[in-house]
Amino acid sequence: MGSRKPLIAGNWKMHGRAADLAEIGALAETIGAAGSKIDVLICPPAAFVQSAAWQNRAGPILIGAQDCSPNAADAARTGEISAAMFADAGARYVIVGHSERRQIHGETDVLVRQKAGAAIEAGLTPIVCVGETQAERSAGRVAEIVSSQVRGSVPGQGAFVVAYEPVWAIGGSSTPTLAEIAEVHALIRETLAAQFGGQANDMRILYGGSVNPKNASEIFAVDGVDGALVGRASLKAADFSAIILGHPAAA
Ligand code: PEP
Repeated sequence: MGSRKPLIAGNWKMHGRAADLAEIGALAETIGAAGSKIDVLICPPAAFVQSAAWQNRAGPILIGAQDCSPNAADAARTGEISAAMFADAGARYVIVGHSERRQIHGETDVLVRQKAGAAIEAGLTPIVCVGETQAERSAGRVAEIVSSQVRGSVPGQGAFVVAYEPVWAIGGSSTPTLAEIAEVHALIRETLAAQFGGQANDMRILYGGSVNPKNASEIFAVDGVDGALVGRASLKAADFSAIILGHPAAA
């Protein structure tokens, strides 16, 4: 794992109400000292980012956003929220290129890279998601798809995180085998190394897709896995804390 500090991020998607932010306080209490050894992040819906950041300003839980505008400057963009606004609201990270954005909203690698660049400009760390669909996996195209998404979506400079999220594993019950996860993580690091050289060794690569309290420890033990991006199992402090405490760095 080298010098890479683990990052375990929760993506609440379009779930929750203001009252559910209490889960974040409960999470902080349950993980205790593990919160200083692992970067723990919750990305609530945009409407709650500021109050979540305010409520958790004393740490250790970091707050992030789920998407941002590709526009850095304030502009006439009804409904858009800029990375600078999220930074101002107390966010530290932003998820970009999630498969739900790529598939439902038709986001391309070019747009994802613009969003990641806008995030960096605003002082946020983008978590850039990549991953193949079931059809692409069945056609033996995992390496081609994932490496091309990485090349096309990551920003040219600044600190970022990559999340490998096989689309078919999100929101379901199956995950790739541990060997498959290791293989794709190695491929992503090689792809990053081709562009960034030795700096690629310091870049964190997360696994995401049906991580839960039962499978988290074995996934965290896979070579090259620097943490996880978690959907459903991040909504309740009881589940998410069990995942975090299953990381070897939490011991
Ligand atoms: C996600 O949406 O990023 C995700 C990994 O979801 P889940 O953990 O629910 O599969």
